[in-house]
Order: sequence, then C-alpha cells, then structure tokens
Amino acid sequence: MAVSSKILGMMETSSWIRRMFEAGNALRAQYGADRVCDFSLGNPDVEPPAEFQKALREVVESSIPLKHGYMPNAGYPETRARVAELVSREQGVAVDGTHVVMSCGANGGLNSALKAILNHGDEVVAPTPCFMEYASYVDNHGGKLVLAPSTKDFDLDVAGLESRIGPRTAAVLVNSPNNPTGRIYPRQTLLELADMLTRAGRKNGRVIYLLADEPYRKLAYDGTEVPGIMSLYPHSIVVTSHSKDLSLPGERIGHVAVSPEAEDAKRLVDGIILCTRILGYVNAPALMQRTVAKIQGLSVDVEIYRRKRDLFCSALRSMGYQLFTPQGAFYVFPQAPGGDDLAFVQALQEELVLVVPGRGFSFPGYFRIAYCVDTAFIEKSLAGFEKAARKLGV
Ligand code: PLP
Repeated sequence: MAVSSKILGMMETSSWIRRMFEAGNALRAQYGADRVCDFSLGNPDVEPPAEFQKALREVVESSIPLKHGYMPNAGYPETRARVAELVSREQGVAVDGTHVVMSCGANGGLNSALKAILNHGDEVVAPTPCFMEYASYVDNHGGKLVLAPSTKDFDLDVAGLESRIGPRTAAVLVNSPNNPTGRIYPRQTLLELADMLTRAGRKNGRVIYLLADEPYRKLAYDGTEVPGIMSLYPHSIVVTSHSKDLSLPGERIGHVAVSPEAEDAKRLVDGIILCTRILGYVNAPALMQRTVAKIQGLSVDVEIYRRKRDLFCSALRSMGYQLFTPQGAFYVFPQAPGGDDLAFVQALQEELVLVVPGRGFSFPGYFRIAYCVDTAFIEKSLAGFEKAARKLGV
C-alpha cells in the first residue's frame, strides 16, 4: 500500500476546516464565486503593509554576497537580534538573539519545539476549544494531546487544566488571542496558571513547559492587553509567525523564543535548532528573514478586522445568536442555534454560507466564523444567518 495505515486514518478524519474548504469549492463551481459566502478559512484578506513591500524590494535589490546561500540553521544573527528586541518588550523579560530560532511559520516553530521537548508517550495539555492541528503536531513527535475544559466565557479553567496534568505531562499549550474564540487570557488567569504549573511541576519532579502559540498577538482590539507569559512563568516557550499580523501565511516565516529563565534554556534552544534542521525545514526562508527583520513590531491595520467584528457580532446578536465578543484574532465562535452544530452548518450551507462546526475544535454545539473576508460577503451572508437561525428555532 502506498500510504501508511496511520496516515490513511488521518486522511479519512481530515480536518473540518479542510472539508468546509472543499465544500466551498464545490458550491462555487455550482453557483459562482460571488454567491458563496465562505467563512471557513483563516486566510487574511488584508494586504501586507506598504512597509513590507518596501523592505522586500530593498532586500531583493541589495547586493549581499551569496544572499541565497545556506545560513546558520537558527537564522541570521541580525534577524534573531531584531526579533529578540521585540520579544523582550512584549514579554517583559530581557531576551537576546541566542534565545530565538527563526521558523517556517508557527506550525514549523511548534513542531520544532515539541520535537525538542517530547519523549515518547509524553502528554501536552491544551484547553478546548482549540486549533485541532495541535493533535497532529504532538502526535508527530510521539506525544499525546490531552484536552481540558475552559470556562463558560472561554477563559482558562485552571482547575480543569490541573485535573488533566499527570506524570507524563511535558507541556501546557495555550493560544491567546485564541482561534476559534477570539479570547485573550487576562493576566490574573495566567498568573494562576503559572502558580499551578510551578506546583504541579514540583509534585511530578519535572518541569512543565508553558508553550504559547501567539500568531494573533498583534490582532488585539480595544487596547486589550496580551500579557507576556515569560514574565509570569520561567519555563516558557513563545511561538509565533507573521502569517496573520503581516498577512504573510504563504511566506512561512515565524520564530520560537525560549525564556532565558527556562531550565537548561541554552540546551533547549540548541535542541530546537537541531529539530528545525532534521524536520526538513533546515532554516526559515532567507529573503523573508531579512525582510521581517526591518519591520519588527509592524502589523496590518487591526481596525479593519475590528470593524468586521463589530458588524458581524451586532448583526448576529440582533438575530438572537448567543456569542462571546472576540477580543482579538479574526474569529467568532457563537452557539449553534438548536444545539446541533452539524445540523446548523448544513442549514447554513443551504443558504450558501460556510462556517466550521464546533466539533472541528473539539467543541460541539458551537460554530466558527472566520471574518477575515471582504465586508461585502459579511453583509451578503446576513440573510442566510437569519434564515438558518429561524429554521433551527432561535
Ligand atoms: N496556530 C494557530 C492557533 C493558528 O490558527 C494557525 C493557523 O491558522 C497556526 C498556528 C499556524 O500558523 P502558520 O501559518 O504561521 O504556521
């Protein structure tokens, strides 16, 4: 057989986001692209900032010798130093370039970090709802993703997380601003989490890493603080990318930063560098490393997404939908009218509107809207949301 039985199984249960994307393609072919309102993918619709185009042009036109050659696997020292300056400001801990490893997006960074820390059979605990590719990333390196509950308004349930921690727990993986809920975890909750991890690590006789997946950090609304976890817990690893904040998901550029206060930090960084190489990425793309080094701290205009959030949330609320107003990212995660997320998603599809059922995030009974799409589609979709809600009894 050409494909292993494990991968065959994974192909059959392939992600809901992918399935909705394929359903969208079929609907577009049947009804025409302008009639289908597709909110299934987190693919930013905002162009990268003008400063990015300028920086890229400068890099392309510069006469750096062997600009396209091999480099240190962790990335260019100048890029790592620029990234470290920003990480230090965001995280409230002095980080230098030697604690930073450039990566192929957040996905590449998470895989390198997980490969570096997991022994076979180790566990990684994550609150639900969550981005379900985490299960594959953890499985890639012989680990198991253990899911934990959240509070009703999608904050971390620290006691719930603690109940899932056992002797095999290597890390807790959090994502704030969150996909799919748009929740930003407040400082107080993160302090309680840090305290719990310190106690649990002592009890288990092993350090539990706090792995923060932060690709949406700069997409925070209304001045909501995204606290830096490094200043709250020493054994922290922060992973991010410019896929969302600079709208560069196709360019595969991000980084991992290890807290200098983490146990054995230097060896951990060296392990992540080795994993970046042997996982097949070798290093993050050269042109992008040189380009993003020039524009650290910049992001797309967050107000664009804030306006889309406001339009969607107030329209859905007026129809009777129950939802938590997202504080960041570009997703909203309302309750499915009628309670059955699959039945609701099907009813919406009949109105040519595509969203992802909550079970795609291990959270049935809800659905995710990715509102990083043209406002005209948001407006066009509202009649469909109204009809589907009435059909299922709101
Ligand atoms: N983590 C979360 C929560 C995401 O939503 C995504 C992408 O949608 C990723 C990681 C992967 O990001 P990247 O494209 O930078 O690999």
